[in-house]
Amino acid sequence: MDKSIKHRISLVQSNKLENEYYCFDFEKPAGFTFVEGQFCVFELLNNNIEGRNSRVFSIASCSGEDNIRFATRIVDTPSEFKQALLKMQAGEEMLMTTPKGKFVLEKDYDGVFIAGGIGITPIRSMLLSKARNTRKRDDTLIYSELVECYPFKDDLEKLPGLKIIYACDIEPTQKAITDCTKKYQNNVFYYLSGSPGFVKGITGLLKENGITSDYIKFDVFVGY
Ligand SMILES: Cc1cc2nc3c(=O)[nH]c(=O)nc-3n(C[C@H](O)[C@H](O)[C@H](O)COP(=O)(O)OP(=O)(O)OC[C@H]3O[C@@H](n4cnc5c(N)ncnc54)[C@H](O)[C@@H]3O)c2cc1C
Repeated sequence: MDKSIKHRISLVQSNKLENEYYCFDFEKPAGFTFVEGQFCVFELLNNNIEGRNSRVFSIASCSGEDNIRFATRIVDTPSEFKQALLKMQAGEEMLMTTPKGKFVLEKDYDGVFIAGGIGITPIRSMLLSKARNTRKRDDTLIYSELVECYPFKDDLEKLPGLKIIYACDIEPTQKAITDCTKKYQNNVFYYLSGSPGFVKGITGLLKENGITSDYIKFDVFVGY
């Protein structure tokens, strides 16, 4: 378990978004700051579960929002950690470490954001922040989700200056990426987030298409 400062955070609400996706909103501790795209370790309190009682989740909210939010996939036979999450009631507390991670926005650049399923969480945070803090933008989100469930679709579609391409299979995802690399080449940053297999495959495709490592940033959701 991480040795950094731990904040006690209180659950405000949890919601099933759609299909296997759930989101959890917590009160923001006084003075808590983070950079959009970062993650924290979230630890259960008072739970006697088998195995690890903490998980890494990216912060899905942006600094301008009232709550700290994370979102996750919870399948029919979830880990004990996720079973305990589902049982949490408003007012119950968890521990949250200080935020970490370098998967953050590059100032003054447009972006092509590529999310694989639940990999949308840090990207939602970054895109909301960009919408609040950047006057003119030309960003693209390629949202790849194999069963056509797109958490946070409504929030994302309201953002100005963002073109969203939904892709519900590997081939349309690859086509959308190739179209973007032809259009933007090494003039934008490419932000990828999702399972290790997703990030590895997409990084390979970007490089085949001539995008250099300097312009590729990624967050690997180890555990999927
Ligand atoms: C930087 C980062 C950000 C993440 N953000 C999110 C997020 O926003 N939302 C989200 O749902 N998930 C996120 N994850 C993944 C998350 O931490 C969990 O691993 C995932 O949700 C699966 O949890 P689980 O309880 O269902 O399965 P688990 O009980 O964690 O098990 C899933 C499988 O992964 C293996 N595994 C778990 N952790 C590791 C590890 N560290 N190294 C190697 N193998 C491992 C287990 O042995 C098992 O086979 C993130 C991970 C990282 C590293």
